[in-house]
Amino acid sequence: MREKQKYIFVTGGVLSGVGKGVTAASIGAVLQAKGAKVSIQKCDPYLNVDAGLLNPREHGECFVTKDGAETDLDLGHYERFLDIELTQKSATLAGRLLFDLIADERAGKFGGKTVQLIPHLTQSIQQTILQAADGSDFHIVEIGGTVGDYEGLSFVEAIREFSQKVGRSNCLFIHVVYVPFICTSKEFKTKPAQNALNDLRGFGIVPDAVVVRTDYPAPDSVADKISLFGGVAKENIIMMPNADTVFRVPLILAKSGFSKLLSDFSGLHKKPNLAAWEKIINQQMSKPEKTVTVGLVAKYIDNEDTYISVIEALKAAAWHEKVGLKVKWVNAETATKKDFKKVDAILVPGGFGARGVEGKIAAARYALDNNVPYLGLCLGLQVAVIAATRKAGQDDANSTEFAPKCSCDVVYIMDGQAGKESTGGTLRLGDYPARLVKGSLVEKVYGTTKVTERHRHRYEVNQQFLYEISKGGLVVSGTSPDGSLVEFIEAPQNDYFIATQAHPEFRSRPIRPSPLFVGLIRASLKNK
Ligand code: GLN
Repeated sequence: MREKQKYIFVTGGVLSGVGKGVTAASIGAVLQAKGAKVSIQKCDPYLNVDAGLLNPREHGECFVTKDGAETDLDLGHYERFLDIELTQKSATLAGRLLFDLIADERAGKFGGKTVQLIPHLTQSIQQTILQAADGSDFHIVEIGGTVGDYEGLSFVEAIREFSQKVGRSNCLFIHVVYVPFICTSKEFKTKPAQNALNDLRGFGIVPDAVVVRTDYPAPDSVADKISLFGGVAKENIIMMPNADTVFRVPLILAKSGFSKLLSDFSGLHKKPNLAAWEKIINQQMSKPEKTVTVGLVAKYIDNEDTYISVIEALKAAAWHEKVGLKVKWVNAETATKKDFKKVDAILVPGGFGARGVEGKIAAARYALDNNVPYLGLCLGLQVAVIAATRKAGQDDANSTEFAPKCSCDVVYIMDGQAGKESTGGTLRLGDYPARLVKGSLVEKVYGTTKVTERHRHRYEVNQQFLYEISKGGLVVSGTSPDGSLVEFIEAPQNDYFIATQAHPEFRSRPIRPSPLFVGLIRASLKNK
């Protein structure tokens, strides 16, 4: 470890959702490319205790870490960009910190003192930063939302104080702002960005660099204005128009004025080795001869963020196989055979609740009957099992999640999980190992019989129905090591029909795609 740990704080102004997470992850990628050990953390100021109960339509995917934390999707960006595995320590939510503070207050731990946002919540925030940073050379902290939001004030104050405690020169503050382009007058407007910088200064933080997000390349005068009014040297104004792919951002940063700032700050003056990033970009930019269309049968079809890790895993698999990829959204609530006919492969991702589930069962059944390559993820396994059992003649087959009283409960609730259906943090979460059946397709695809994948579910395959399931065309090809839980199923009659109770998308990486996704893309090429 370095003698002195250094910290990089990434805040946002004007609007959220313009790429703060990708910026934070990309800064980490450049530092890694200089040989540094990087850790990273997301602080979210809202009052939820974790991201588990948040509506994915509003908030995007719930990412799951190896130790079972249900987190913001930005942790997925971090893992993919930095190829590291994060834990609960990297996901800080105001709700959890307040929850713990209030519990401590009730337990009498404050000895009669008044418990306040400052200093108590701010100290808790600083404590989480120290814990998450443990063991790395550089620790990156992204603060969710925008500076000036009521609920985020404690976080901004906490990082300001933190920089005072560890020494300002050991901290780098980066503010990500958005500069809109007004179509009618054809000009970029820097006013909101100037205001955002004023707001940040008002809280006692003068940033070292400003990342300026724009929808189109902006003229130099925009950087001049922000430099002048923001009080930040021009070379530290980093213009960041929309990139063709987010994986280009580390390369853009490394080529910008930011590179010098980062070298000076880190003391790592050697040029970053960005070969891995160049390889990813080259793969993405090469014109593939063939393109496959994967039908994603889902209920939230208006927000790509809801399935971001699934989409990233598909893209990575397609780059790996050097084929083009088209993801076709199939609305699970209205899907018919016509929709399934139009695609080369079917993917049913995870999900909760009854809405759209019959469409997903129909999708699995179509793939099973017509030898269409199929990948089922978590709920995608459960609907496949239901489809096969119905195919075997048990029309009532269902999951007790959707039909609590059904007579043929091929998917049912585990002991100890009943009654917790709408509570947080009570699922089977995080990494669990599985043992794959020798000679199975899934063993061939993974190239091993021992795998570990992330999980996030409550319901399980009811092994009393294994006979009916197999009559319908599916066999169990992987279980928990003690054999008590079904982890993988496949259709031996089909070329590629695999489903898993896990979420392999969370461990997929741009340069190391999940074997299950690679298998799907390969199988989709068969009629091309
Ligand atoms: N709703 C199902 C369960 O809880 C599937 C969960 C998922 O797809 N992540 O078991």
